[in-house]
Amino acid sequence: MLVAIASGKGGTGKTTVAAALAAVWGQALLRPLTVVDLDVEEPNLHLFLRPVIRRAETACLEIPVVADPAACSDCGACRELCQFGAITVMAGKPLVFPEMCHGCGGCLAVCPTGSLTAGSRELGRIEEGTTGLADYLAGRLRIGESQSPPLIRAVLRRLAAVADPEGDVILDAPPGVSCPAMTSVAAADVIVLVAEPTPFGIHDFLLAVEAFTPLGKPMAVVVNRSSDGTPQLLDLCREHGLPVLAAIADDRAVAETYARGGLLPDVGAHYRAVCHELARSITVFAGETAHA
Ligand code: SF4
Ligand code: SF4
Repeated sequence: MLVAIASGKGGTGKTTVAAALAAVWGQALLRPLTVVDLDVEEPNLHLFLRPVIRRAETACLEIPVVADPAACSDCGACRELCQFGAITVMAGKPLVFPEMCHGCGGCLAVCPTGSLTAGSRELGRIEEGTTGLADYLAGRLRIGESQSPPLIRAVLRRLAAVADPEGDVILDAPPGVSCPAMTSVAAADVIVLVAEPTPFGIHDFLLAVEAFTPLGKPMAVVVNRSSDGTPQLLDLCREHGLPVLAAIADDRAVAETYARGGLLPDVGAHYRAVCHELARSITVFAGETAHA
């Protein structure tokens, strides 16, 4: 089971919920877990889980390079095909803008003369290791790289190669509803939306519900920093048919534990029980929706 922990905006506590689940999953469910940081533009799960990194590799995107400018027939097929303006032809010679290329391979396929050949652009790094309680995988976007979805897809390919088929996966998705978040949650079996009951939090929660619903994935909610706005958020969840699997109190003890570098289960027995119950609720919800 792949569970995406997502949120309509940054700062809702998405990563702290993902880290809390990673800390209790094995004990609560007696199943192996791989926890994956897909927030590749700003990965911070490692700050909570302190993994030991055992392997790192560079991820690259295949892009065209001009191998033989003299061979170009000036047919313009590459320029016409590219939707991103990443290749043009000037004075009868192809010209590639590597940073704009999305790596679709179309220009390489249509070039009739062999003027273009396959090259690569570095996207970032993929790190693998262990937290001691779960296997760990993360993407880290190269500084200056503007496109994160290709790296997210590369991390997901690596996940498919290394994840225990008998185990579960928690994906810490990028916040928001743009391409990186959509690429991440589209890979999941279940989406858990972490929402804050503040006016901004509720606004962005609704954007996420609107964006993710067409994916047709089972979706549930965790209310974080539960407060006066919680009844309104709960009403909206009911309206959209979204079960609320947990509500984490807006509690000073939680904030103090985070400030010391601890996780939610470290706050005390009550919060440890909340995390165990959330892990079990997610699997029950996933099972119910799979058989619905
Ligand atoms: S690989 Fe695709 S995106 Fe990149 S330049 Fe060629 S057609 Fe454009
Ligand atoms: S498709 Fe090939 S031959 Fe045609 S313009 Fe582009 S590089 Fe030149």
